[in-house]
Amino acid sequence: MIKENLKAVRVNIPTDVTLVAVSKTKPIEDILEAYAEGQRIFGENKVQELVDKYEVLPKDIEWHLIGHLQTNKVKYIAPFVSLIHAVDSLKLLKEINKQAKKNGRTIDCLLQFHIAQESSKFGLSFEYAREILESNEFVELQNISIAGVMGMATFTNNEEKIREEFQALENYFNVLKSHYFKFNNHFQHISMGMSGDYQIAIDEGSTMVRVGSSIFGSR
Ligand SMILES: *Cc1c(COP(=O)(O)O)cnc(C)c1O
Repeated sequence: MIKENLKAVRVNIPTDVTLVAVSKTKPIEDILEAYAEGQRIFGENKVQELVDKYEVLPKDIEWHLIGHLQTNKVKYIAPFVSLIHAVDSLKLLKEINKQAKKNGRTIDCLLQFHIAQESSKFGLSFEYAREILESNEFVELQNISIAGVMGMATFTNNEEKIREEFQALENYFNVLKSHYFKFNNHFQHISMGMSGDYQIAIDEGSTMVRVGSSIFGSR
């Protein structure tokens, strides 16, 4: 089924939108099935699971960490992770920078914004993001690259609500782009949209969707 599911999802995604196949909780065999169909970008939300899968799977896979990251765990993924989606503090950015430097790398990060109505511990406010980007400490971070923004809409059937939240994220992206990244082509991604709402997200300007259950089945 994974093969058919993947095909069905791909049909809905324009070629300039990146598909991250979210394989959290799913076994190695499932990932290999998607890999056999040409999928190379996979997303996981837990550090230990990500490391375990990285070790046994083909090395041309691009691994994205999509879940919350604790500073004390950055060191485990710094040698190989290709994009960290959920950066929500200066402290975390500094640690990613430190571990990237140790590994002789530059690590791409997305700033996670809190756009949903639901209260959540995670995600930046727009004001805090601006504070980070304007700080002297941020300027000194040479081993991280901010590749864009990420957010999650409220879990609801109210399509208008979801649409408004994605519009808010796209607006944050545009304002940050014009203020801080005007001449930086690396700042290019809006990571938004999951199985239930990726079509709306694409309508609203998503450049990267994170799709799990529509490909691998329910968890
Ligand atoms: C699990 C997860 C997804 C994928 O969710 P599905 O509804 O299974 O597509 C996307 N983004 C994040 C941050 C997740 O934790």
